[in-house]
Amino acid sequence: MKFVLFFSITVVLSAAGFIQHSESENTSVDLYADYPINPVDIRHVKINDQFWLPIIKRVQENTIDYAIHKCSEEGRFDNFLIAGGVMDGEVKGHMPFDDTDVYKIIEGACNSLISAPNEKLEILLDSLITIIATGQEADGYLTTWRTINPAKPPADWVKVVEGKRWESLAMSHEFYNAGHLYEAAAVHFLATGKRNFLDIALKNADLMVKTFGPGKIETVPGHQIIETGLIKLYRITHQEKYLQLARYFLDGRGDYVAGRSSFGTYAQDHLPVIEQDEVVGHAVRAMYMYAGMTDIAAIYRDEKYHQAIEKLWENMVYKKMYLTGGIGALHQGEAFGENYDLPNLTAYNETCAAIGSVYWNHRLFMLDGQVKYYDVIERTLYNGLISGLSLDGEKFFYPNALESDGLYKFNQGACTRQSWFDCSCCPTNIIRFVPAIPGLIYSKIADMVYVNLYIGSHAEIDVNGQMLSISQETNYPWDGKIKMSIKSSGQQPITVKLRIPGWARNEVLPGDLYHYTDEEELPVELLINDHEVPISIKEGYLMLTENWSKPVNLMLNLPMQARLVEASQKVVEDRGKLALEYGPVVFAFEEVDNPSIDDIRIGLSSHWSVEKNNDLLDGINILQGLSANNLSVTGIPYYCWSNRGIGKMKVWLPKS
Ligand SMILES: [Zn+2]
Repeated sequence: MKFVLFFSITVVLSAAGFIQHSESENTSVDLYADYPINPVDIRHVKINDQFWLPIIKRVQENTIDYAIHKCSEEGRFDNFLIAGGVMDGEVKGHMPFDDTDVYKIIEGACNSLISAPNEKLEILLDSLITIIATGQEADGYLTTWRTINPAKPPADWVKVVEGKRWESLAMSHEFYNAGHLYEAAAVHFLATGKRNFLDIALKNADLMVKTFGPGKIETVPGHQIIETGLIKLYRITHQEKYLQLARYFLDGRGDYVAGRSSFGTYAQDHLPVIEQDEVVGHAVRAMYMYAGMTDIAAIYRDEKYHQAIEKLWENMVYKKMYLTGGIGALHQGEAFGENYDLPNLTAYNETCAAIGSVYWNHRLFMLDGQVKYYDVIERTLYNGLISGLSLDGEKFFYPNALESDGLYKFNQGACTRQSWFDCSCCPTNIIRFVPAIPGLIYSKIADMVYVNLYIGSHAEIDVNGQMLSISQETNYPWDGKIKMSIKSSGQQPITVKLRIPGWARNEVLPGDLYHYTDEEELPVELLINDHEVPISIKEGYLMLTENWSKPVNLMLNLPMQARLVEASQKVVEDRGKLALEYGPVVFAFEEVDNPSIDDIRIGLSSHWSVEKNNDLLDGINILQGLSANNLSVTGIPYYCWSNRGIGKMKVWLPKS
């Protein structure tokens, strides 16, 4: 990391006597303690993966620094200083939630600190936290634009009448700002053991508890995320008041007490949450709300919440999900469309929504251990999520379309990557999310360990007091061979569950929205200490029970080949079209490789070859073949399209 700007901020603040260094304390908080299945968090997983490690490093070494530079340029830090009265001026920026970019950068930097301790970075984070503290009001209130001038929002769509706190809650984003503050502060506390950021969050949360609830201001957040944030504060402090407020904010949706007007389907406020069974409205709001509902289902063992999230999930995955895992089809309202309404050229698929979907699916998995949630996570990770970041780490997709005509534009730029956005939620969400990916690989329950993603890594997992070490070596997703070495420190049997991905079980996604055109059951192979063993796949997993007291070497071979995918006929947009995949990776066809892209027609019997090319786009699998009308066709992984200029692109090609 370059830290150039970090250092200049630190110098300025040190000179002003601003920086307060915070002491560390030991912390062993488990943020998901109430779930039956627990993730093996990033403190215990080191990755050395040839696919993900360069992406994580790109975020650590380029994107964080770049985003801090942009935030500085756009006055995100100044707003805290202006709010605190140590700098003069009006609010800067364009959005009422600009503060959250700073929180999300800190959260991502903290996740990266856990895997790669860095004292300088910690000191620099202390300086950012000091800046944030400057903008907090004495009673804990923290939304800088409102403190600077409550009558003058940075965006004209925040309607102000009296110019005071908590006005226009549907759009003021005061709860959203608080939610990201809590999420980031929780991770900072876990990463550093310091309370400086956590104390800011708790002071703000205490104000929320004092202000909102039965007999106080009775309302719900306009943009959800405070719910999961409050629950993290509850898990750290064990103070029930934070959990109760989170539950109140969820229970209160669709319940218009005291004449509160509804925020409508846009903000999932049209019905009580436990009666909702279709994913509607703003997709990011929806993901964060469902994640909060899943927390409530886990903590309270609440069956009504549990049933509602299952129905919502089935609706999303069976009827409203793109092949890339993208969700939220419509630009209008950044929202889900009707069932099966999945346009390609105008697909919105906000990067933040894909990230939110992974957060939600991860919680669903922790609740009941079903493989289907990881099938969604994997498809999203390798396709419609990581597409949000360019190969240089300094350009971004906000919408992730499945087709480009090289012209189409919307306010956040659909047909090419952008260097930044007035609404910069997506770049900073990438920063927040990517360094935490190692925490998605392994999970455990009782004497059982799940290996859900194939990512080169080493994990030390405490299983009832025995340490199980698992190492993975693999070129996944470029080929399907995974070498594993497993060893336990004790003698008690431990069951290791290896996930067989949906694509290797002949299932594109759970449900029947997409299917492979061939019905081939491709053989999965497993070698134990070099001997092939018979296998049986149960509910998507291979189960191996051993005492592992001597090191065991496994070789799992997941059979990858180029496969054609067809969408359900109900998806009008994809009728008469085919897409191509290899393992978990969806291909895109760009004009730069396919000059006659509009003429390509492919047949069911076309022959496709896939080869690794280390020189193109940082090293990718390239798909090649002949179309039915004899044009040579070249595909690249969808996630890395638009790294070679503007041009046409398709995921779905017409069938001959
Ligand atoms: Zn976003």
